[in-house]
Amino acid sequence: MKILIAADMEGVTGVVHWDQVMPGHPEYPRFCRLMTGDVNAAIRGAFAGGATSAVVTDGHYEGRNILIEELDSRAKLNSGSPSPLSMVQGVDEDINGVIFVGYHARMGAINAILDHTWSDERVSGVWINGQAFGEAGLNGAVCGHFNVPVIMASGDQTLCAEVRELFGNKIETAQVKKAVSRMSAECLPPAVTASLIEETARRAVINLRNKKTPKPLKVTKPINLLVKFEQSEMADKAALMPNATRTVERRVEYVAPDMVTIYLAFRTMLALAR
Ligand SMILES: [Zn+2]
Repeated sequence: MKILIAADMEGVTGVVHWDQVMPGHPEYPRFCRLMTGDVNAAIRGAFAGGATSAVVTDGHYEGRNILIEELDSRAKLNSGSPSPLSMVQGVDEDINGVIFVGYHARMGAINAILDHTWSDERVSGVWINGQAFGEAGLNGAVCGHFNVPVIMASGDQTLCAEVRELFGNKIETAQVKKAVSRMSAECLPPAVTASLIEETARRAVINLRNKKTPKPLKVTKPINLLVKFEQSEMADKAALMPNATRTVERRVEYVAPDMVTIYLAFRTMLALAR
């Protein structure tokens, strides 16, 4: 029973502001510790539920946030950037289930801490086959490409609702804060969220062993990716990607036969749009 724990930072316990997740800011080191705490809770729960191995992928910013010196010694850590599969580096057909820790809702969501989709400055929306997708959807669909289900997510209440909509009601969720705006939330302290995340992960892995988890997220092929950029010049630059089409306003579309190609194309367009 191999579990991949894909971690982001905006949905971590206590996070309500960009400063707290920005390397170099004086507040950032505290939140690296809190992120590591949320991840460790998920690892403990996964093993308690019957996992036999766990890989953690640090998916925030340049993938150098989790404190390896404090990481549960049973897990391995994918760290650094870029890696081929970025936020879900490590997923393949041998992984049995994926747990999202510290995730956030997609760009434009209401009452969602630091809502964005990959880049707050460049992306105002992403659609896959016409359906609005955030990072949970994009990463979950890459896991689906390898037939791997997302079995749990932690974050605020809006992220929890988003993953239920994407993956179905069988996904387990740990709500660590209740957002009342983009940068304000009622937060549970880490002493409480640690046991909440641990117990939720334990249940999710037990569900997996009992085949009661959501199905892997599959998208219909060929897959249409639509990205709406924040500025016109960003769309101009992204449209330089071969076979990408600038459609209306600041929208660029791209069609590919599989989700991994879509994921690479999306990240390439964002790199061009810098
Ligand atoms: Zn992040």
